[in-house]
Amino acid sequence: MRRSVAVLGAGLLLLCTPRVEAQKRIALSFDDVPRHAGAFFTPDQRAIRLIAALDRAGVEQAGFFVTTGNLKKPDGDGGADRIRAYVAAGHVLGNHSTTHPWLSRTEVEDYLEDLDQAEAWLVNQPGHRPWFRYPYLDEGRGDIAKRDALRAALQDRGLLNAYITVDNYDWHLDAIASSAQREGKAMNLEGLRDLYVETLVQVANFYEAIAKDVLDRSPAHVLLLHETDLAALFIEDLVVALRLDGWQVIPIDEAYQDPIAHQEPETTYLGSGRVAALAHVAGWSAEELVHERTDEEVLNQLFQERVLATAETTSLSTRSSKTISSEP
Ligand SMILES: [Zn+2]
Repeated sequence: MRRSVAVLGAGLLLLCTPRVEAQKRIALSFDDVPRHAGAFFTPDQRAIRLIAALDRAGVEQAGFFVTTGNLKKPDGDGGADRIRAYVAAGHVLGNHSTTHPWLSRTEVEDYLEDLDQAEAWLVNQPGHRPWFRYPYLDEGRGDIAKRDALRAALQDRGLLNAYITVDNYDWHLDAIASSAQREGKAMNLEGLRDLYVETLVQVANFYEAIAKDVLDRSPAHVLLLHETDLAALFIEDLVVALRLDGWQVIPIDEAYQDPIAHQEPETTYLGSGRVAALAHVAGWSAEELVHERTDEEVLNQLFQERVLATAETTSLSTRSSKTISSEP
């Protein structure tokens, strides 16, 4: 579309095209890779499905944030191959530490040793980017000295703080769906899909509205996700829903070109992502910056109503149109 526009001549089009509001933009990122298995797929099946779904959805480039210590855990078996498969499919890698420590509970020196160890593995991987994502988005909580020590250390190392702007609890929804699956409970998978998709679209719009108020423009967003079974099941539905809602899914390289990538907010309110942090600096209260669906009880209730209560009595393990095949 844009190419044919250029061919027709920009001048003519400027006259004829109604002024359209800039599109909302968002990049996808997946943390804790290689993540522990869920109850629906093996880690290999999950990766194969996720890669295929991102491809079908036309997602050019997502970010996969690696916690290298997970490679040594039982579910990390084959993890290096899965990571290479993500890269071969066009995606890129960032550092998410070796052991996933809380900065607020760890000495700076130990934290950096953990970070450096992960970087030493990552730097040899194709698709590597000089990006560090704080585990738990913990930048030291109230500890300004720690926060600043890490900011300086990242800068020394040429690493970007790979912030997110759209915080959510995708991992909790995955955990409750996986435990229901393990318990053999019947689930309404369409209800689960809609709950996952609708929650993420709502939260993206929540942070977009805050961003527009605070920045007076729409920044390139970064969606925080995890390498979950729910992502493998529903990422294509999510991308379709985002597009229908006016979002453009952009490469994560492009998202981190946004000016907010270099605006380290002068606050210790950093655990809900960069837009929330910038809003906090601008005077928003913490309560205004948290979406109601980042509450485990709210999600549990919605899961009960929309996934369990509406399930047919047939279990997922029986053959039905809602059965999940274990084939990729
Ligand atoms: Zn994490």
